[in-house]
Amino acid sequence: MSEAPQHVKIQCEERRSLLVGSIKCVLNKIDFCPHATTLKAYSRVLQTEIICQIKCKRWGCSHCGPRKVQSMALRVKEAKPQRLITLTVDPKLYETPRIAYDKTRRKVTELAARLRRKYESFEYIRILEVTRAGWPHYHLVARSPYIPHQILKNIWAEITGAIIVDVRALKKTDHVYFYVLKYLAKQTYIPWTTRRISWSRHFFPKHSEPKGMPLKLSDRELCREHPSEIISLKWTNQVIVQFTRDVFIIAVDHESAQMNLNAFQKEQL
Ligand SMILES: [Zn+2]
Repeated sequence: MSEAPQHVKIQCEERRSLLVGSIKCVLNKIDFCPHATTLKAYSRVLQTEIICQIKCKRWGCSHCGPRKVQSMALRVKEAKPQRLITLTVDPKLYETPRIAYDKTRRKVTELAARLRRKYESFEYIRILEVTRAGWPHYHLVARSPYIPHQILKNIWAEITGAIIVDVRALKKTDHVYFYVLKYLAKQTYIPWTTRRISWSRHFFPKHSEPKGMPLKLSDRELCREHPSEIISLKWTNQVIVQFTRDVFIIAVDHESAQMNLNAFQKEQL
């Protein structure tokens, strides 16, 4: 039997250390999405069954929400925008905030199309926010040539009747990360939409999606149960390896866990 300690970290790939330990000791230390469901499968690379948490990925989830905010802020920063634009709506023109949203949300696309005709490009991510009274306004984080404030104001007034438009140049691209964090962190429940964010087709650079690990899965089975429930019901004395943030393997002891990881590293070479 292996005499490995209860908690050991194994360096499996660059900058990633993995949590390994007996299920009893480490299951409650793993960061699970509370609403996750489970994928069970066999990995031909790790030569063992894997348990994968399928996260809910909702903005409102206590686990997924903050992670989504952070990764979105990072992606926006990598898109190298130079301008922050705030487009307001005029509450006097609509009966309710919902009507204001329905009547103006497509106008952002129209504004972008008109700007593209005039200037060579206008790419943006749009973040919806509501005022304390519930009225929508839109934050655009944009990448475009210089556009005079007055031109933006005139077009927005022409298509929506609203006259308040704010434009700010981003002095450092680093700041955009914090602006996006701030806009997204302020998100509260909006009864009339779940679509807080949208972006133009070329805003994000291509290939910015992280690549998945080549685990070569077969015998996939989706279960409604939470992964921690499945793990604790089926196994008790085994060793769990948190292989990636979402993928776990169960091994009889530390030694065979190491064998599974060696198999993966061999495949990587
Ligand atoms: Zn979640």
